[in-house]
Amino acid sequence: MSFVVLAVKSVWQYYVPSKDILGLLEMFRKMVNESLRVGLANEVSPLRRLSILSYNQLAKYDSPSYYKLCAISRAAGILAARNKSVKRGFPTKTPYAVRQQLVSCYGFKIEKGALDIPISRGRRLGIPLTKHTQEAISQEGITVRSFTLTINRLSLYIARDTPKIECSSIVGVDRNLRNLTVGNDEQTRHYDLSQIVRIANTTVRIVSSFRRDDARIRTGIASRYGQRRTSRTDHLLHSATKTIVAVAVRKTTAIVLENIEGIRSLYRKGNGQSRKYRGRMNGWSFAEAQRQIEYKAQWLGLPVIRLSRRETMGSSITCPRCGERLQSDKRLERKLRCGRCRIVMDRDQVAAINLARRGRVRFARSRPPTLLEAQGGAVEAVKGNPTPTVIPGVDAPKLTHPRRS
Ligand SMILES: [Zn+2]
Repeated sequence: MSFVVLAVKSVWQYYVPSKDILGLLEMFRKMVNESLRVGLANEVSPLRRLSILSYNQLAKYDSPSYYKLCAISRAAGILAARNKSVKRGFPTKTPYAVRQQLVSCYGFKIEKGALDIPISRGRRLGIPLTKHTQEAISQEGITVRSFTLTINRLSLYIARDTPKIECSSIVGVDRNLRNLTVGNDEQTRHYDLSQIVRIANTTVRIVSSFRRDDARIRTGIASRYGQRRTSRTDHLLHSATKTIVAVAVRKTTAIVLENIEGIRSLYRKGNGQSRKYRGRMNGWSFAEAQRQIEYKAQWLGLPVIRLSRRETMGSSITCPRCGERLQSDKRLERKLRCGRCRIVMDRDQVAAINLARRGRVRFARSRPPTLLEAQGGAVEAVKGNPTPTVIPGVDAPKLTHPRRS
């Protein structure tokens, strides 16, 4: 049995907007705000009702009707997000679109190496695509679903049907201070990210060494260093996650990630950790690493399992063999010892192995049992919680939240 899943991602490039496009961006922003006003005044957020109420209001704009629908849809999205925040009790401001951003899933064509879009009624305009973008969209089976224009960036949201990879095993991915550890019972591999931490530390040192007593200049310089740091760490992280996914695809292993909601709150002032340790732990973004692994895996049809907070509890201090709590050994750095099994294990490996094991239980539950299991092979996997489990990454994310590539 083989499944086909819809995989999506986005490709982007810089471009220079013409006067027409700048006008269009501004008009789109105004239309979004107009729809937001209508929605707020009538306390309406569902797309259908918002469309009925605000479409006529947008008649005064000389815009192709495609963009009107997309502006309403964007407003509906903003209102829905706001309603969610209000329900959860978060403070919210009155929504208002400030940034110029045009999103549309209608009316465009890719022609002669350009994105051809309607500008106003009856007029069209082509924006040249770079070689990189053209290559990305010309691969087999790819369709362009929508485009987004900002003042200097053009991104295309692309999709394709990918056969789901049937996985024979599972690896866990664990975050450490300096690396990502990927592995299971058979094998673990470290992906060294200490360079990212080093770059982060250097930046902090450089920025804090500025003595000029002008907050504005300091902020400016800090943000410039911040940008440089971001582009350098981005590259390192991208190549690590790319390799992790490529290896997993080659070995047909599904990937298990821990739930990292609230991971920042683990390393906060007042938690009894030193300032330096906190800085190091927050120095590179595990959330970004996870996001990259997830979308890259999804693009290739590789299943990704995200464990819940409860499922990952104690995964870094439990013996993967017997479940006993592990003890740290002062004589051996970065090692843990199990008193019952009388073995010493690498601290980084323990978590990855445990994640892989816990993921396997979940993974087995989410598919029909194989013949071997039905005959009593893996009882553990069939028993337990009967609720259906969705493997994250298999479901296509909503089109309204394009992911950056
Ligand atoms: Zn043990």
